[in-house]
Amino acid sequence: MAYRILLCEDNERNIKLIKDILEFYGYEVHVAVDGEEGVRMAKELMPEIILMDIQMPKMDGLTAIHEIRKEGSLAHIPVVAITSFAMAGDKERILKAGADYYLSKPIDTRALPKLIKEILNKKDVIEGKE
Ligand code: MN
Repeated sequence: MAYRILLCEDNERNIKLIKDILEFYGYEVHVAVDGEEGVRMAKELMPEIILMDIQMPKMDGLTAIHEIRKEGSLAHIPVVAITSFAMAGDKERILKAGADYYLSKPIDTRALPKLIKEILNKKDVIEGKE
């Protein structure tokens, strides 16, 4: 079974880019277009990884990460924050909110699948799958 990745992102071009890259590598990608939908879909899907844009309508990514971390059943899922914020201190703020990893925009088409693979390898070691 393919690994499921939940992509929370409101920008159509970024959705297409990230979806194309991840599907190329064989992952099953599900898209939520705002933070509220992201939290709801995370509960339904229980994905292996969540990619979270920070600036989104209805509920921003930081709040969505907080919500996910509060939810016992979702607390263990690795969250990768993706953001175009370039200001110093943002990375810290994002990690403090409960994200495990951080990717900056524009998305590096090689760094993204590399990070996903690293996260899944770690998870497999922890869960004893491989
Ligand atoms: Mn956005």
